[in-house]
Amino acid sequence: MVWVFVQEANGAADPVALELLTKARTLGSVTALYLGEANDSVFAQLGDYGAANVIHLTGAGNSLPAAATASAIAALATEHNPALILFGSTYIGRDVAGRLSVRLDRPVVSNAVDVALEDGSALITNEIFGGTKIIKTAITASSPALVIARPKAFAAEPGGGGAPHVTEAGLPDVGHAGSATITDRHTETASGPKLEEAEIVVSGGRGLGSAEKYELVESLAAKLRAATGATRAIVDAGWVPYAKQVGQTGKTVKPKIYIACGISGAMQHLVGMKDSDTIIAINKDPEAPIFDVADLGIVGDVHNVVPKLIEAL
Ligand SMILES: Cc1cc2nc3c(=O)[nH]c(=O)nc-3n(C[C@H](O)[C@H](O)[C@H](O)COP(=O)(O)OP(=O)(O)OC[C@H]3O[C@@H](n4cnc5c(N)ncnc54)[C@H](O)[C@@H]3O)c2cc1C
Repeated sequence: MVWVFVQEANGAADPVALELLTKARTLGSVTALYLGEANDSVFAQLGDYGAANVIHLTGAGNSLPAAATASAIAALATEHNPALILFGSTYIGRDVAGRLSVRLDRPVVSNAVDVALEDGSALITNEIFGGTKIIKTAITASSPALVIARPKAFAAEPGGGGAPHVTEAGLPDVGHAGSATITDRHTETASGPKLEEAEIVVSGGRGLGSAEKYELVESLAAKLRAATGATRAIVDAGWVPYAKQVGQTGKTVKPKIYIACGISGAMQHLVGMKDSDTIIAINKDPEAPIFDVADLGIVGDVHNVVPKLIEAL
C-alpha cells in the first residue's frame, strides 16, 4: 500500500503529485492524501492517475496546515500502516514530511529521483554531486518509509483509472503548533510559458553583466516562445525574481532545449537543468563547466552572440 500526499494548487492537484501518483501505481495499491478544497473532478483526476482511494484531509481553513496535516497523517498511518508515503519536494510537502518523521519516529529521505519497493522495503535513488554519482538508500526502519521526491523525477501520465473511493479525515487541533494563519497569497505575474512546463528555456547568469542585460534573455525567449530562467547569482543580486531560479534551491526543468547565457555551470545550477534534452551554452570561457554538459557550445561574448541569434531568428 503506497500513499501519496497531494496538495491543492490553484483549485487542482499540484502537478508534482500527478507525477508521484504515476510512479506510485507501479508500486502497489495507491491512496492519495488530498489536502485542500476538492470537488469530484479533482478526485476523478486523482483516480485517472492511479489513486484507488482518496483520503480527503479537511478543515485546514486559513491556517498554515503542515502541523495539523502531519498529525492527521500520523494517526492514519498508525492505523493502516502503508509501506511508503511519497511527498513532492514542495514547501508544504517538505514541511509535512519532516513533522511526520518526528511524529512517527521514522527517517525521511529527500531529493529522491526514483523509488522502488523490494520485499516491502523502500529503495531510494538519489543523485549527488550534480548528478555525477547515483546513490541508493535502503530504508530498513519499519514502515512507513517517508520519501520526498524531486519534481520531474517521474513523467505524469494518466493511467485510465476510474473514480476513487473517497473518505474524509478532519485535521485535528494541534494547539499553538497549528496557530499560524495565512493572511495573504501573492502570485508573481508572468507572461509566456511557465518555466517548469516550457519546451524551451532561455536562462541568464552573471555573465550578462547587469540587470538591464537580462533583456537579451527575454528577447531571445520571446523569439522562441520560451520561458526565461536564471542562476541564483543573479537572483541574489536582485536582477530577477526568485521564481526564475533554476537549480538545487530553485526549480527543476526538463525542456527540449535549454539555452544557458553567461552561466558558469555550477553543480547547484546543473542539478536543475541537466536532464534537458538539448543544452546549448554561450560562455566566453572555453573552460566553463557548463560546456561539460552542453550538447552545443558557443564560446563567445553573450553581448555579441545573443543579439546575432535574435537577429537571425
Ligand atoms: C547551497 C547552495 C545552493 C545553491 N543553489 C543554486 C541554485 O538553485 N541555482 C543556481 O543557479 N545556483 C545555486 N547556487 C549557486 C551556485 O553555486 C553558483 O554560484 C551560481 O550558479 C553561479 O551563477 P552564474 O553562473 O550566473 O555566475 P558565475 O559562476 O559567476 O558565472 C558567470 C559565467 O559567465 C561567464 N561570462 C562572463 N562574462 C561573459 C560574457 N560577456 N559572455 C559570455 N559569458 C560570460 C563566465 O565565464 C562565467 O562562466 C547555490 C549555491 C549553494 C552554496
